[in-house]
Amino acid sequence: MKITFLGTSHGIAEAHAFCSSAVVTVGNKHYIIDAGAPIMTLLQNHKMSFWDIQGIFITHSHSDHMIGLVDFTIQMEGYRQFSGVRIPIYTPDDARYLKMNPFLYGKEGLIDHRVSYRVYQPGVIFDDGTLRITAIVNQHTSCSRSFLVEAEGKKVLFTGDLKHDIPDYPAVATEQDLDLIIMEGAHTRLNKPEIMEILKASRTGHMIIQHRYDKYNTDEMVEEFRQFVADKMTVTCAHDNDVFYV
Ligand SMILES: [Zn+2]
Ligand SMILES: [Zn+2]
Repeated sequence: MKITFLGTSHGIAEAHAFCSSAVVTVGNKHYIIDAGAPIMTLLQNHKMSFWDIQGIFITHSHSDHMIGLVDFTIQMEGYRQFSGVRIPIYTPDDARYLKMNPFLYGKEGLIDHRVSYRVYQPGVIFDDGTLRITAIVNQHTSCSRSFLVEAEGKKVLFTGDLKHDIPDYPAVATEQDLDLIIMEGAHTRLNKPEIMEILKASRTGHMIIQHRYDKYNTDEMVEEFRQFVADKMTVTCAHDNDVFYV
């Protein structure tokens, strides 16, 4: 399993950092987790074919996790060169940002053509025999999810955005052995003693911090967290275009 970060910024895009989006690749199949970045260009930068995208999976309908879908959908649907592309897009609700564009959201509801929008419920939302995604309810919004991604015998947890001070840190993180946890770093200070204890209880050897607001979780704070958990896991801060192999 290969994970490519297209965007790692928090709610605001910053220099050299788009908002949240990552691609999980298994063989030549691509699975996109969140689309807060301009994925139309970024996928091509990484030489990922649109015809190989198996699905786009949105953790919640904040713009920094899905606004890239507007541009992506308009271009996919508007140009004949993309005929034959079929990409399901899984959202936890009816994607309110897309309603801003009547081309995408008409009287019949969301379009269902080259891209087709599907509203998912908690639980297993996708399984194509190669990769499975389980959506786990969290408390970041009234309709936000974390994702457990399983493929090739490996398990990766994408926390998505969580509630401040992580009362909703997914139980799976401490109940199952995970190969990687991708944790957000915008809503909770990672060096608070009680937070470090919660995260240290995770059953993983590697945690990647993305969606980090570096004025809230400074390099020094992350370093304090890294030292605290060093005997259990390595901690990495992801940047745009970083690639990790699981
Ligand atoms: Zn966010
Ligand atoms: Zn959010």
